[in-house]
Amino acid sequence: MEWKGVLDRYFDYLPVESRKNIVSLSEGNTPLIRARSIEAKLNDDLEVYLKYEGANPTGSFKDRGMTVAVSKAVEKGEKAVICASTGNTSASAAAFAARSGLEAIVVIPEGKIAFGKLSQAMMHGATVVQIEGNFDEALELVLEISNNYPVTLVNSLNPNRIEGQKTASFEIADFLGQAPDYHLLPVGNAGNITAYWKGYKEYSDSGKTTRLPKMTGFQAAGASPIVDGKKVENPETVATAIRIGNPASWEKAENARDESGGMIGKATDDELVEAYRVLADSEGVFCEPASAASVAGLFQMDGTGYFEDGSVLTCTLTGHGLKDPDIAIESSKEPETVGNTVEEVLEVSGL
Ligand SMILES: *Cc1c(COP(=O)(O)O)cnc(C)c1O
Repeated sequence: MEWKGVLDRYFDYLPVESRKNIVSLSEGNTPLIRARSIEAKLNDDLEVYLKYEGANPTGSFKDRGMTVAVSKAVEKGEKAVICASTGNTSASAAAFAARSGLEAIVVIPEGKIAFGKLSQAMMHGATVVQIEGNFDEALELVLEISNNYPVTLVNSLNPNRIEGQKTASFEIADFLGQAPDYHLLPVGNAGNITAYWKGYKEYSDSGKTTRLPKMTGFQAAGASPIVDGKKVENPETVATAIRIGNPASWEKAENARDESGGMIGKATDDELVEAYRVLADSEGVFCEPASAASVAGLFQMDGTGYFEDGSVLTCTLTGHGLKDPDIAIESSKEPETVGNTVEEVLEVSGL
């Protein structure tokens, strides 16, 4: 069967009124990959799956929300969209705007977004504005502009973004035939944990599943306002996609945590990079540093009694590793350089 994107697949659960307004890049339907090497490293006896959102058309889960936000903007006859971004929202907004003929304006913190993401926004023809400030300040700015000028905000404060993003939990439940026992994911602006929880509840309410997962979120230790219970003025972490000090969906994330009986923790940059490397090196799955927060959280909580033996876990890997190759190269061993003879290549290749 042809896959025509999340709005086509889950139309009845989503707010777009007419199928003819759908703007889609055939997003969604991303791989759910069993992580047997990681399972083997754990103390607890768990079944672990990776929801690889890097396989979306612009390389992150943001496409799930953007198809709904931009389709709704088209449905309402809007002409332009605006967002603040740590990178992936701008890449996605720019692509969907390009496809629909809307203008896109993206506001980003200068020097703090990964090069791959910046190149996407530029290639898709968005107006890219860098500000001397961080993501939280950029978000305040675009909020004010969208409140006063004819332009639609497509950050996750736009409820259509959350609606679209909840389809990831539908896909997981459809694939497993049931919701997992625990769902682990990175938390930045906290839209995605909100969306997943909404999706799991809706599927359970409609009788498609009979259980709800414990929502288990992880922030970066240098940007962990929810864990610490206070705004972080100058968030700092290698994981730029979750470098956020004042999450827009803060309370909703706490609700997801508390209603589900889950937790929100934090992982240091060393833990994030370690999980990022293990995923690439032992599972063959290359994600962004921020994405690895889910698996860093798994390693952190393994053996503590938090996970019940025999449980099924899903870990969202929010974005593709190629978005941010600098960190991959910085944290890897340099390639060997030798002359162009068989002997020299053999000498360094360990054959
Ligand atoms: C946006 C993003 C996040 C954070 O998601 P929130 O909904 O803001 O919590 C995490 N990882 C990647 C790769 C992202 O693009």
